[in-house]
Amino acid sequence: MTIHKNFIAGEWLAGSDETKNINPSNIDEVIGVYTRASRNDAENAIQAARKAFPAWARSGIQQRHDILKKVSDEILARKDELGQLLAREEGKTLPEAVGEVARAGQIFDFFAGEVLRLSGEKIASTRPGLDVEITREPVGVVGIITPWNFPIAIPAWKIAPALAYGNTVVFKPADLVPGSAWALSDIIVRAGLPEGVFNLVMGRGSVVGDTMLNSPHIDAITFTGSVATGKKVAAACVEHMRKFQLEMGGKNPLVVLDDADLKTAVEVAANGAFFSTGQRCTASSRLVVTDGIHDKFVSALTERLKGLTVDDAMKDGTHIGPVVDQSQLDQDISYIDIGQKEGAKLAWGGERLNREKPGFYLQPALFTDTQPDMRINREEIFGPVASVQRAKDYDEALVIANDTIFGLSSGICTTSLKHASHFKRNSEAGMVMVNLPTAGVDYHVPFGGRKGSSYGPREQGRYAAEFYTTVKTTYTLP
Ligand code: NAD
Repeated sequence: MTIHKNFIAGEWLAGSDETKNINPSNIDEVIGVYTRASRNDAENAIQAARKAFPAWARSGIQQRHDILKKVSDEILARKDELGQLLAREEGKTLPEAVGEVARAGQIFDFFAGEVLRLSGEKIASTRPGLDVEITREPVGVVGIITPWNFPIAIPAWKIAPALAYGNTVVFKPADLVPGSAWALSDIIVRAGLPEGVFNLVMGRGSVVGDTMLNSPHIDAITFTGSVATGKKVAAACVEHMRKFQLEMGGKNPLVVLDDADLKTAVEVAANGAFFSTGQRCTASSRLVVTDGIHDKFVSALTERLKGLTVDDAMKDGTHIGPVVDQSQLDQDISYIDIGQKEGAKLAWGGERLNREKPGFYLQPALFTDTQPDMRINREEIFGPVASVQRAKDYDEALVIANDTIFGLSSGICTTSLKHASHFKRNSEAGMVMVNLPTAGVDYHVPFGGRKGSSYGPREQGRYAAEFYTTVKTTYTLP
């Protein structure tokens, strides 16, 4: 099998060892073999990015626009093929995977446009006769560390703005899903970037990621992943006094009120909690339901779950693909066990499933009769597992919804404008949805959370400039 290599200083290079990319829908299938970078490789990539930075920072906006547009065009033209690769390596269904690839293409297109819209401000000085100008400059070498659950969209929403605003890049994808990251990198390097501007270093977090965290030659790190790793990134970045941005876990609540449209609420909950196998940082893992609709909602959602097909991500008719790997499956099953031991009622699912091919299949699990202090309501599970929390009215539901260390997204299903408006103002989350799943966002507006979910400036849309540029104020006496 071909070994997919790293891209360092303008060359495709083999690393120190290799990893096999396994299909979670069929663990007998090896999708590809991918090299793993050593510490030395990671350092070479950082040096290359450092060397390339001054020229790239001064490059013309037309050149940067054209390169990003070319990347977008190729991603969109190949979205079906790249979607198949993504579905095979991560396990989300083919339509979800093709949608994610399209999203990556749209993001590159958006930032190609942003290159042309770069602007500053010229304002009056408090001292007569002086000019004051505020401009944005690139930050420098940006280290990009990404998780496995969005193998192409998350890399895209970090790489595109980094390059658009004139930074050079060292990109470390998740070890578990190197395929989409490699394919994206191949498209990027063929789009005409000068040597060293973009570097791909696949490999382990403890080796490649750690080298990036401890390098004095990286100016900013953008990270998406778990809280535990995020804390390490933060500590290392403070030590080096460098800029950083963290997007981490969630325990996102969906509030369902008595006046909700039942059909909408069930659809919103099923989608938000279980689609993409529940492996979304924005998944609705807590369903906070008021007394008057509770029993109807639980029984209608259970019926809906019974109708969902869990099978091979590539099969027509599959609603939910497999869990990504053995260790995530073990984690999901252990929380299903913890929930039962804590006294929650497993209303549906939670069974390990066998399908035609050997894969990590798990029936979506729904808990009821849960209490706010149960671990299943406090800790991120990151699988197709959701719990219902009963509330007596809207006020109590809001308190329960906000009772979490996380604050990424939240949602409410209601036909009351009063409650929807109050929830939008008082939910302690970065993204709030009304009659929509907590997961599923646009690409041209800010993405991010509060409290333990996020740290630093928002990602995506025009707000991305906050992280990928640094502001300069100049004073001139003409
Ligand atoms: P993870 O923290 O295990 O890994 C994320 C990345 O960090 C990987 O590339 C990994 O190799 C790297 N890494 C691991 N140890 C490292 C170290 N010591 N130094 C430097 N890098 C290291 O997370 P994961 O399991 O890949 O992803 C799942 C998590 O990501 C979940 O908690 C989920 O909520 C979160 N997530 C958050 C968002 C968001 O935008 N808030 C989006 C997607 C996923």
